[in-house]
Amino acid sequence: MKACIIVIGDEILSGRTLDTNSNFIAKKLDLTGVSVTEISTISDNPDSIVTKLKEAFASDTNFIITTGGLGPTKDDKTKQTLAEFLSDQLVINQPALDYITQLYCTNGRTMNDLTRKQALVPSHSEVIINRYGTAPILWTKKSNKILINLPGVPYETQAMFEEFIIPKIKKEFNLPFIVRRSVIVVDYLESELATTLTDWENNLPDFVSLSYLPSGARIELRLSAKGTDKKLLEETITKEIKKLSQILHEKLISTTSTNIIEIIADFFSKNNLTLSIAESITGGNISHKITSLAGSSVYYKGGITAYSSLIKESVLKIPEPFIHTHKVVSEEVAKEMAIRCAKLFNSDVAISTTGVAGPSSDEFNDPVGLAYIGLYVHGNTYVKKYYYPHVTRDEMITRITNKALEFIYFEMIENK
Ligand code: ATP
Ligand code: MG
Repeated sequence: MKACIIVIGDEILSGRTLDTNSNFIAKKLDLTGVSVTEISTISDNPDSIVTKLKEAFASDTNFIITTGGLGPTKDDKTKQTLAEFLSDQLVINQPALDYITQLYCTNGRTMNDLTRKQALVPSHSEVIINRYGTAPILWTKKSNKILINLPGVPYETQAMFEEFIIPKIKKEFNLPFIVRRSVIVVDYLESELATTLTDWENNLPDFVSLSYLPSGARIELRLSAKGTDKKLLEETITKEIKKLSQILHEKLISTTSTNIIEIIADFFSKNNLTLSIAESITGGNISHKITSLAGSSVYYKGGITAYSSLIKESVLKIPEPFIHTHKVVSEEVAKEMAIRCAKLFNSDVAISTTGVAGPSSDEFNDPVGLAYIGLYVHGNTYVKKYYYPHVTRDEMITRITNKALEFIYFEMIENK
């Protein structure tokens, strides 16, 4: 089954609003076994809407999904246009009106005309009450295709799509199963990895597809199998992942979770270990990543953004001459930061970062792109040097953050 998504809204074309709806809808359809063959963004005006709908109805797509453009402010034009396109007329849908009235007239508000008009729908369209807002959702059968009109507000659209539209699509159409699993690979460039995996990839069964999804220094390899026999799909994916781990060995760091934070959290919690972080170049980003996973307080004690040398001295208690002698971006300072951080937070493990994110060099003239990561584990210290001279500031922070997480992973989990 195929679908196309039509995003309607001048605010998106002007760049004021980032279209997040189509991304969400596409992901959910993909997981349901519906291939999205086109996503287009058009203006709110009736001509653009009709032109695009005609094009979509002439194509071989099964579902035509629109988002936006049908809210109360533009109702008069666009909904009328839609009704005409469907050779239909607008009528008040009583359940929709009752629902809107009930929603609207709480807190002493009285119904206004604009809101009331939201209950106007093409008479042959099926109405799906919008539990998260007032604009009803329309499901219309025409020429062997299904047209689904969703509102623009992301919260409403996305919740309704997931909770009502996807189940309805599944119920009304016999869709194939999709089994997906990802593994995480490190220490490879995408092209190197593709070369290494050529034979394996060429021998994948037809019903299995592969995507390379690089993120910083890690690459997620996502395997998707599509078909009617769910058990066969699952077995095939498991078999292929086994083959992958025989090719990639320790560079394949996880086959169960794609999220290194989850892997670390799991390991620290199971082993009753605690972690603290002293960040300079990463400015709190590692701490942010760690704490974005619920339950991190079990093992994460806290962190300090020791950005200036003064804080490295006054809070972490690294003597000023030590920093001066070795330079702030150095192996020695990275190690010392980790040791002092573990002491300050009384943690079993501590990680530290120091480096030059750019765009200009630091006070010691260290080159942009140079960084060190220190790791303290029960009295032992480790350090790694990185040099990425050609990346942007943001990318540098992302890479060092990922490297720090991988450092914890390798030193503590993989090499254990
Ligand atoms: P209308 O434009 O007819 O009034 P609508 O359903 O398109 O109705 P809007 O008022 O345009 O609703 O949009 C509501 C909010 O949702 C706005 O903040 C808008 O920027 C946002 N929005 C609309 N479409 C999208 C989209 N595709 N992705 C993310 N946000 C969106
Ligand atoms: Mg709009």
